[in-house]
Amino acid sequence: MTPEQLRGYLAFYRDLGVAEIYRHQPPSNEIMTELPPLAPTGDTLAKIREDIGDCRRCGLCAQRNKIVFGSGNEHARLVFVGEGPGADEDAQGLPFVGRAGQLLTQMIDNTASKEGIPIRREDVYICNVVKCRPPENRTPLPEEMEICGQFLFRQLMALQPKAICALGSTAAKALLNTKDGVTRLRGHWHKWRDIPVMVTYHPSYLLRPYNQNAKREAWDDLKKALHLVYD
Ligand code: SF4
Repeated sequence: MTPEQLRGYLAFYRDLGVAEIYRHQPPSNEIMTELPPLAPTGDTLAKIREDIGDCRRCGLCAQRNKIVFGSGNEHARLVFVGEGPGADEDAQGLPFVGRAGQLLTQMIDNTASKEGIPIRREDVYICNVVKCRPPENRTPLPEEMEICGQFLFRQLMALQPKAICALGSTAAKALLNTKDGVTRLRGHWHKWRDIPVMVTYHPSYLLRPYNQNAKREAWDDLKKALHLVYD
């Protein structure tokens, strides 16, 4: 195992909330660094959805109607990660289908078309940090993000996109393990594992009428992501 691989494994376990890992020292005094795989071998979106099942692993199960796993192209080169389902998503079991979702669709379709990139929303993959709707659309709690985040990480590892677009501060926190806000993070490339991450505003923030500047900035961020992936 290379130091780089080992670093990747340890970062993954840290993200899952595992603070300590013990090394097994065999009698020969050779130190073993064999760790369990980051994700089940041959992991697929279908397998991850099966593992989620009728999930009761965190408190968000109590009031949800439907688990919102994710949707889009399973071979997508670009993945959008939002915060969690809202009322429309909870009712339909699909991500970004309410007003914010319609705006996201417009942003993807219109920006790609203006930039001469032949993709539409159905060509990308969209999912959230938590798969069940937080009551009153509150921000997910750190423990909810930590527990459900393991499924997001498995989705991203199974998809292996060329880039990820983090929508809003919850997605940025989950992927980049940072306390910085979107204003500071947006517009620049970051990394989750070795995958480039562009942070931008959540579409529901852009729906507020006084956020015209943020809208322009979000369009710029999206342009950067589209060109990195599809040029
Ligand atoms: S939010 Fe995630 S971990 Fe919590 S109950 Fe729903 S699927 Fe399970």
